[in-house]
Amino acid sequence: MRQSLHQENISRIFIENPTICGMCATNGPTCCQCGIKEEELVAPLSEAELRRIQKLAPWVENTTFVVREKNSPFFISEMAKLFPDHPEDIKSSFPVDSFHLRLAQNSIGQCVFLGPQGCLLPKAARPHFCNLYPFWFIGRNLHAFENHLCLALQHRNSIPKMCTELHTHPDDLFQAYLTLCQDWGVAPPSQDLQVEIQ
Ligand code: SF4
Ligand code: SF4
Repeated sequence: MRQSLHQENISRIFIENPTICGMCATNGPTCCQCGIKEEELVAPLSEAELRRIQKLAPWVENTTFVVREKNSPFFISEMAKLFPDHPEDIKSSFPVDSFHLRLAQNSIGQCVFLGPQGCLLPKAARPHFCNLYPFWFIGRNLHAFENHLCLALQHRNSIPKMCTELHTHPDDLFQAYLTLCQDWGVAPPSQDLQVEIQ
């Protein structure tokens, strides 16, 4: 989910890095834009994440930035791929024919918060998936998504170098992932485990 569950379209944002994400946002498309008719794959937004946006970016109250999206079979199957060890949690948190919240997109699939130079939200207010992208964890193992459009991935030599380039750290990413699991209703990996870079 790149905001879309599609690895090639999903979310992200480390816009404070002008050399990569800022350039990506200026040139487009970024991971903040999903393909036509791919809105169902935009990452879910938990109630906790919604409240955090409202608290840290109160100006959003003047905008329509959240929509309800049906838990389609495609959405559920892509969610299950993100959490291969927790299929039951996905079924429970995102039951068939129920709904989840997600950020709204404009007519060309851009996130409502995407500005000409990147995300308009402060980093602390952004959804967890946005702050993790282009990284992801399977258990305690840190991976990077495949996305040929992502400039950060194009320039990467290694995950540690990507982290440095994107002004983040594996331990910070793991904490964000733990909070995401909690907010999305998925059992998190043990906090005592060391992060392993794949
Ligand atoms: S909230 Fe910001 S980082 Fe997340 S998809 Fe929207 S514009 Fe991108
Ligand atoms: S460089 Fe990658 S992470 Fe940064 S905005 Fe572009 S697609 Fe997203």
